[in-house]
Amino acid sequence: MATINVSKKYTVKEKTYLPAILIGMKITMKRFLQGFLLRKHDTILYPEKKRDYSDRFRGMHFISVDKNKTENCTACYLCETVCPAECIHIVADERDEDQNPYGVKKEKKPVSFDIDSLRCCFCGFCEEACPKDAIKLSTNYELAVSSREEAIYDLDHLKREMNGRSEK
Ligand code: SF4
Ligand code: SF4
Repeated sequence: MATINVSKKYTVKEKTYLPAILIGMKITMKRFLQGFLLRKHDTILYPEKKRDYSDRFRGMHFISVDKNKTENCTACYLCETVCPAECIHIVADERDEDQNPYGVKKEKKPVSFDIDSLRCCFCGFCEEACPKDAIKLSTNYELAVSSREEAIYDLDHLKREMNGRSEK
């Protein structure tokens, strides 16, 4: 059976890699001069400087509160039901009338509300399902934790005064 020789004969220039090295050095020098003389950087000094993300960015969850710092959540379980990652766990109880933000008798409240952020895929379904605009995904992208337990957000961690999707 005939064989095809596909090996290529390299020129001296190609063997010394000179053109490729010079092109690489030209790009390096261009970036260096842009940064050094024009102060034009593609990177930022995080965490001193932070990027502004789009309002549509879906980061850390929060539960909004009213002016009395009572959570707007009425423990209806819609977010828990719709969550594809099954990472929301709510325990409900009856709310005291004087704590009722909607003036409705027999309103419910969450006794505990946990979100396992390591299971969450940040799809935003919980936010869309919530009839009280209580659960939202903020633009906070700083989610680093040092243990698995810290990644489970409880009600105290989630309750925030918010302005839209940003913390006040
Ligand atoms: S963003 Fe999606 S996966 Fe995360 S808690 Fe909400 S519904 Fe569940
Ligand atoms: S956060 Fe919204 S959807 Fe979830 S239980 Fe509370 S009121 Fe219902």
